[in-house]
Amino acid sequence: MPDFSQFNFKGKKALIRVDYNVPLNDKLEITDDTRMRASIPTIRKILKDGGSVILMSHLGRPKDGPADKYSLRHLVKHLSDLLGGLPVLFANDCIGEQARLTAGLLKPGEVLLLENLRFYKEEEKGDEDFAKKLAMLGDVYVNDAFGTAHRAHASTTVIAKFFPSDKKMFGLLMESEVKSAEKVMHQAGRPFVAIIGGAKVSDKMLILENLLEKATDIIIGGGMAYTFMKAEGGNIGNSLCELDRVQTAIDLLSKATAKGVCIHLPSDSIIADKFDAEAQTSTSPSNNIPDGWMGLDIGPNACEQFANVISRSKTILWNGPMGVFEMDKFRHGTKSIALAAVEATKHGAFSLVGGGDSVSAVNMFGLAEKVSYVSTGGGAMLEYFEGKELPGIAAITRSS
Ligand code: AMP
Repeated sequence: MPDFSQFNFKGKKALIRVDYNVPLNDKLEITDDTRMRASIPTIRKILKDGGSVILMSHLGRPKDGPADKYSLRHLVKHLSDLLGGLPVLFANDCIGEQARLTAGLLKPGEVLLLENLRFYKEEEKGDEDFAKKLAMLGDVYVNDAFGTAHRAHASTTVIAKFFPSDKKMFGLLMESEVKSAEKVMHQAGRPFVAIIGGAKVSDKMLILENLLEKATDIIIGGGMAYTFMKAEGGNIGNSLCELDRVQTAIDLLSKATAKGVCIHLPSDSIIADKFDAEAQTSTSPSNNIPDGWMGLDIGPNACEQFANVISRSKTILWNGPMGVFEMDKFRHGTKSIALAAVEATKHGAFSLVGGGDSVSAVNMFGLAEKVSYVSTGGGAMLEYFEGKELPGIAAITRSS
């Protein structure tokens, strides 16, 4: 695979798969442009070399073909702003005559954005013919969409077969995502703590299993911690609990003991009398929550307990919040973990935050710049740490 930074794009039409699946509000305004901003260095490098850029992406989950609310047209103006006012051309289809003609006439220094790939069912089906039509638009294929690297779709995976190995590569974003993930997965400095939170054990079981092979410590917080508390025989009141996962939690705890991996559960919790921003709150040992109350955040002792583990770690992987951080009253635990990760990073640890909600949390606290790496790909990062091969990555590296 060519090294993107070394590749000379002069006179080339680079077809880039980006992840512009950004949130839009009711007025179709972009409410978080992180993913767009993350693609700019890749675009700029190609333009600077004297190449032209054809961008393709999906947006949302259109069910039945084209629909205005999922049109990438809504992103054109903002993309142009991010490129310092450079005009961005738009093709209102991603294949077909208009896309072909506009791409064909594209001159060095120009940028073309194609319409939503998912207006065609063929995209998600990984249809070869559709992938081939897309491939015909560019001379070189650049995959910069880490967020969809776990999907074997036409534009993320199948398309790669229509380019020779010296004409397909990762973009700068993909490259740094893969590098950071590999660093944690294969060259982690020890102690290595994985902090896993969020609502459901079932969503995080595979990552926990895989991390038992890698980490020295695993911190479990968020709603999922209470299934583990239950597994240990605790009273958890009305806290979240997946009864059908209690046995899995018991098995995981004993596997961890056998492997010498230390599992840290929150010693105390902030409890509430209802799931509500205005609920009454109190602090309780996490294994003795009164009936009618529920744990919605880790408590002050747990914050300290977890911060101690984090502070002595050389590698920190964080996926999932420690509590219902969307509500003021249950935000403190997640923030204290973020601050502990920042502190450890200052002292030389490598910290990777991946997964939608922990990423929103570090952004909310203004701490994204103070950890080593914040991943843009929630699902992809999760699958990577579950130990799965990501098809979008394999499609490029396997044939090189
Ligand atoms: P996930 O998508 O599985 O990472 O879960 C993230 C969600 O888990 C967030 O929306 C949090 O509000 C929620 N969450 C975290 N802790 C708790 C808790 N103790 N009880 C209920 N929900 C929680």
